Amino acid sequence: MNNASIKTLQEWGKDAEGVLVCAGPCSAESPAQLLGTAAGLAGRPLTFFRAGIWKPRTHPGTFEGVGVEALRWLVEVREQFGFPVGTEVGTAKHVEAALRCGLDVVWIGARTTPNPYAVQEIAEALKGVDIPVLVKNPVSPDLELWLGALERVQNAGIGRLAAVHRGFCTASDTRYRNPPLWRLAIELKRRLPKLSLLCDPSHMCGRADTIFPTAQEALDLLYNGLMVEVHENPAQARSDAAQQLTPAQFQDLIERLVIPRESGGPPYLAQMRGLRHTIDEIDEDIISLLAQRMEVVRQMVPAKRRHGVAALQPSRWREILSSRTSMARRKGLNDEFVAQLYQLVHEEAIRVQEESLLARETPETDDRGT
Ligand code: PEP
Ligand code: MN
Repeated sequence: MNNASIKTLQEWGKDAEGVLVCAGPCSAESPAQLLGTAAGLAGRPLTFFRAGIWKPRTHPGTFEGVGVEALRWLVEVREQFGFPVGTEVGTAKHVEAALRCGLDVVWIGARTTPNPYAVQEIAEALKGVDIPVLVKNPVSPDLELWLGALERVQNAGIGRLAAVHRGFCTASDTRYRNPPLWRLAIELKRRLPKLSLLCDPSHMCGRADTIFPTAQEALDLLYNGLMVEVHENPAQARSDAAQQLTPAQFQDLIERLVIPRESGGPPYLAQMRGLRHTIDEIDEDIISLLAQRMEVVRQMVPAKRRHGVAALQPSRWREILSSRTSMARRKGLNDEFVAQLYQLVHEEAIRVQEESLLARETPETDDRGT
């Protein structure tokens, strides 16, 4: 994918200096609800006011959005409050209807992004149009699928392109509805430095009371903006009731959030230089210790081969995992982090053993004491 043709936020337009803020209800439900919510947000410098019109719901027969008639309500919001307005599109027909009504922004939802046919169809319908297009992450943590969807939209000639991280589906019981995978989004940004990256803490959290720390975490990771669900009366919302903020709660959120700078002045840099030097030295030690550890693993191979013993030793692995996580706890480290780290180390140790086993030239050494 071509980073060069992506427009940075600075190239997006007049109010794109800071972060992008998109807010509005999960779904447009009625003119009164839409205008009432917009009234609660009046005067805020929103990048755009959002509302879902076509809702891809899990079960048929549930509220699937009010459809095209709500496009007019969105236009009414723009006329009364001056906000640019945007909605989610899932088909070429949605794009055509949204463009006919003059919507300012569209986004592709998490259930559509994974479907290349649908994304291609949407991209074709966007050809020759110059509006910002947002692409939410696919429901499964597949970076290539996310990139592929962005690329299809880019190939249609869209320069004002942004990715929205709304978290990923999981079968595990977590404190999130859709846990974020920050490292995946960071990798997206590494590959496409000009791409604007937004966080949708509403769909990540699934509940209103944890939106602040999640949004702040995204800003601390230098996200370029937020998409937040706001409803005039969340308890009455026809979709995603638990995660929507009232306009007052939204105002409070925006006031509490701190937008960090990417870098600080000379005193900051001087302080960092010393600490970073120490970190560099520690990392060098970590890497040489890892190399030594893998060397010892390699030395086990001849004996395992001679005695016909498997590379994977489940009981030893259980013991390593439990003793290392206890050590981690004693040292005040997060044991889940250390468990994940050791899973990687262990996987690599097995790979190294397999590699040595396959390399017939592995020298046979004395195996006493192993
Ligand atoms: C939404 O923004 O209302 C929505 C349906 O989000 P997602 O595609 O992230 O589930
Ligand atoms: Mn929603």
